[in-house]
Amino acid sequence: MKGLIFSVKRYSIYDGPGIRVTFFMKGCPLNCLWCHNPEGISPFPTTVMQTNKVGEREFSKNEEVGKYYSIDSILEILDQEKVFINQSKGGVTFSGGEPMLQFEFLLEALKSSKKSGYHTAVDTSGYSLAENYQSIIPYTDLFLFDIKHLDEAKHIESTGVSNIRILDNYRLLMESGKDIMVRIPVIPGFNDDPDYLEKLRQFIILSKNDSLKKINLLPFHKIGSSKYKKFNIPYRMGNTEPPDKEKMKKMKEFFMETGVKVKIGG
Ligand code: SF4
Repeated sequence: MKGLIFSVKRYSIYDGPGIRVTFFMKGCPLNCLWCHNPEGISPFPTTVMQTNKVGEREFSKNEEVGKYYSIDSILEILDQEKVFINQSKGGVTFSGGEPMLQFEFLLEALKSSKKSGYHTAVDTSGYSLAENYQSIIPYTDLFLFDIKHLDEAKHIESTGVSNIRILDNYRLLMESGKDIMVRIPVIPGFNDDPDYLEKLRQFIILSKNDSLKKINLLPFHKIGSSKYKKFNIPYRMGNTEPPDKEKMKKMKEFFMETGVKVKIGG
């Protein structure tokens, strides 16, 4: 069994506790306007032409996006980083794209990672079948769960899919007893008006239990925009500016009133 992965990040410190290895799995059923990993949305391997300039001369080469990994090769990479992972109480994170899109591979990767003693995390949009989440719960220590918008029409408009299944899965995972970190992308003009933020704060207060360990506020940024050019995908967020530091600080204080730890960034 093999999984299609478009990036492997060693020494990651933003995808769960400690130092981690994060596997970015290819394919996502969503198509968020602000996606920072557009190369991860297609579920197929892709080839892109990359052009580099040295002085006046341009050099072009093909770049493969997406490579198949076996479970053994995942474990091999983890074992290479074992010392750092163990010393920092880190682990392995499966991200994407949406890792649940390759559910069978994910399940095996989680089982094998746990069997080898690693702390496991799944970074998910929440958009998958409830039974798939039920299957991975026993092998997952931490869920990084995105809440993009509570309003269904707004959610469809900006991500291409309804949020009904996502919110149902959020409640399901909250009852699982596993650790959860809620990730809120802060997108100006989409989910940052005061009325909506109050609604979101109430939603968190009413649905939370001991599983909810942290709220991560992820400010919109344009760092990924160069990838759109590179992968020849139209960039739709050119007119949106990142929220400033003061605004993020106020938002952090606002969400701290939920009683949950809040962090700006991953
Ligand atoms: S869910 Fe994540 S990976 Fe998928 S399109 Fe949205 S931002 Fe990109």
